[in-house]
Amino acid sequence: MANPFRQKKPSAPAIVAKGRFYLADETGRRISSYGQYLLLTSTYLWIDDTLSIPLESITELTTTKRGGRVQFWDAIAAVDMEFHFTLPGFFRPRMGVVSDFLREIAQQRERQSGPLAPNRHTSAASPLSQIDSCEECGSNGTDAYTFSTFRFIGIAPVAYSYQLTPQRFVLCREHARGRAYRVNVRNALFGYLGFPGFLAAPWYIVRNLRELRRHNLLTVDLILKSVLLTVILPLGCVAFLLFLFARWVA
Ligand SMILES: [Zn+2]
Repeated sequence: MANPFRQKKPSAPAIVAKGRFYLADETGRRISSYGQYLLLTSTYLWIDDTLSIPLESITELTTTKRGGRVQFWDAIAAVDMEFHFTLPGFFRPRMGVVSDFLREIAQQRERQSGPLAPNRHTSAASPLSQIDSCEECGSNGTDAYTFSTFRFIGIAPVAYSYQLTPQRFVLCREHARGRAYRVNVRNALFGYLGFPGFLAAPWYIVRNLRELRRHNLLTVDLILKSVLLTVILPLGCVAFLLFLFARWVA
């Protein structure tokens, strides 16, 4: 079965409710400068192409200081997960928008698989627990991984835009390595284009490598390739730009 935590963007007739929010970390701080629509259908909450939360896996919905929190049970990895979102700026009076949206989710959840209950995890018999094939090749012997893509462009706090997206994958060992590498190449291409992005990008690259290490998949050649990507490639680009600039001035 396909990864239920990654669904296609629902089309208009399937959408029950939607709300425009910013993705946030556990402290409620925005992790993206793009506001985006969260789309609710009768079976899942669609965040973006990389994450959908099946309603039956949701265990708790709460409002936070500036937004909302969706707790859910990731049956693939057997861990509790949290998803946070927040309102743009300081629009506290609009907190009603958050509670309305959370109430919609709770209603759909109840209609589909009963009321919310903290710590009531999806049973092992649920289809959500039975994903055992790699998303890319369909082979068995898989594991769940979180890799983060990071984009940054501009100079903070003047003009900048950024996006951090933690993605959940169900992959075999070989494809986990390949995916981590591709995510890191993207981070190296799009993460360094400004300040403080170029300070943060290496951290996300390292974090993806640590995710591989957690699964005993980190190899020497991956480390070497990553050093090449994170240190030598950006420095090379800077040196090349300086060289062009020097020629232009001279
Ligand atoms: Zn595979």
